[in-house]
Amino acid sequence: MRRVTILGATGSIGCNTVSLIAEDPGTYEVVALTGGRNVALLAEQARKLGVGLAVTAHEECHDALKSALAGTGIEVAAGPEALVEAAQRPADWTMSAIVGAAGLAPGLAALAQGGTLALANKESLVCAGPLLMETARAAGARILPVDSEHSGVFQALQGEDVAAVERVVITASGGAFRDWPVERLAMATVAEASSHPNWAMGQRITIDSASLFNKALELIETHQYFGISPERIEAVIHPESLVHALVGFRDGGMIAHLGPPDMRHAIGYALNWPERRAVGVERLDLAKIGSLTFSAPDEGRYPALRLARAVMAAGGLAGAVFNAAKEQALDGFIAGQIGFLDMASIVEDVLAKLAGEGHMGSTITLETVMAADGAARRAASELIDERQG
Ligand code: NAD
Ligand code: MG
Repeated sequence: MRRVTILGATGSIGCNTVSLIAEDPGTYEVVALTGGRNVALLAEQARKLGVGLAVTAHEECHDALKSALAGTGIEVAAGPEALVEAAQRPADWTMSAIVGAAGLAPGLAALAQGGTLALANKESLVCAGPLLMETARAAGARILPVDSEHSGVFQALQGEDVAAVERVVITASGGAFRDWPVERLAMATVAEASSHPNWAMGQRITIDSASLFNKALELIETHQYFGISPERIEAVIHPESLVHALVGFRDGGMIAHLGPPDMRHAIGYALNWPERRAVGVERLDLAKIGSLTFSAPDEGRYPALRLARAVMAAGGLAGAVFNAAKEQALDGFIAGQIGFLDMASIVEDVLAKLAGEGHMGSTITLETVMAADGAARRAASELIDERQG
């Protein structure tokens, strides 16, 4: 039996992971599941998979989870330390699917025990890429990408020498506003930004897809995970979301990864790697699809991409500042405090302010990352308050 843990089990990636594991009874022993406030769903998943431990990230949800699992013998815990403790329990495979920088500490804890970490939580690579990679190396652990583009790059690189890679291209659907005139973007509402043309995902990543902050995070993720230099990494707009990534080699050939816009493919690939096992996603009918289109992203329309390039050039803690400022600005947008376009300008201002104040040192430990994260969130919320006032 393979021992598995799912961090962020109640989210969009988490639920897809739970369903893949539930489809294969007798194969997995589920060590732990973690979730947030959706205690009813977490309890239902825990019962269905017969887990050892269920953890809610919120202390105030502890009693509700306890009573939902009363009489099952399933251990229950709550709070951020309990998440880390759950991740530390020996498992062969851990899905990291918490959203945001909150996924970093549990992800590091899972790596330190030496198993495989299936990484959906791109924010942890953006905040602390070198720390994550080094923790994995030191523990003899493996990180497998789950983000569809990065899974595509990883698949295209099987059997290849990374030294022969000339360029990596990741695709972007363009998000909810790809057909909107630029003048209208300032007025975009949360509801409008929360509906993705091709993918069904959590609300935060869906809004990040509309602003292209998701693609910005993914450029940095590509750099951190594959060790490819920033000038060799490109993003291209591909509205059909069927080609997820392409790797170009020095002989001029390119290997593209195609698949339906369904995360169960990338999750299943990471779950079964190095084997390929059947996954019940839709098969592409290329003749019916007819054509695939690509265009260059307009960096005036999508400042997030330009900011990602600056972050990669700066290195050190710039990624932690960028991600935290983005998370805070996104909270402000979701709460109706700032407009859609304010998110990028706030992130840009926070990066400039913290660089000026010397907050972007180059030593990357969990402590320095969390300190930079905290400083960036405070700076972003001050700017949000100013813009509201
Ligand atoms: P989601 O919002 O649907 O789920 C997030 C999960 O994290 C939930 O279980 C939630 O309870 C938990 N969580 C939220 N805040 C937490 C906190 N502070 N502490 C602990 N747990 C917390 O998100 P999602 O769309 O499933 O995305 C999860 C991760 O996967 C993100 O990093 C996202 O960028 C990445 N990702 C998602 C998709 C997708 O298709 N949804 C695709 C690629 C990458
Ligand atoms: Mg992606």
